Amino acid sequence: MAIYTARIGYSGTDGLDVTRRGNSPFGPSWALLQAHLTLRREGRETEESWQQYTASYTYEMLRLRAEIPHVWESLEQRVRVGATLLCYCGRSAHCHRRLLAEMLAQSTGVLYEGERVTTKTPFPTLGEQLVLPGIKNEEIE
Ligand SMILES: [Zn+2]
Repeated sequence: MAIYTARIGYSGTDGLDVTRRGNSPFGPSWALLQAHLTLRREGRETEESWQQYTASYTYEMLRLRAEIPHVWESLEQRVRVGATLLCYCGRSAHCHRRLLAEMLAQSTGVLYEGERVTTKTPFPTLGEQLVLPGIKNEEIE
């Protein structure tokens, strides 16, 4: 079994929406998400802002794990039978789905095999932001 990531729209049965918008407890908090999306929308996302986002999101997940362990454990159980973590972001490099996948790989020992490449979610070229039909940029997280 392995952990994968993909964009929302991936149709495999192992897909798991991990977005705040999808009411997942594993999405970034609204406060963190809004600040990040504002920077992204205004083209002010930098390596430094991404590092800050990474630190904040990691902290939120560690806190969730400490305060509501059964919620985190249910996710660990899920990835042990194989799961694909889904988010709206065009690229996984700067998306919490990759951070979450790496955290889960560490905590469960299940390998993170990276982003799924499907015809529905073509692998974008560097710097490209693909947006699914019907999903606005503002909704990307
Ligand atoms: Zn994302």
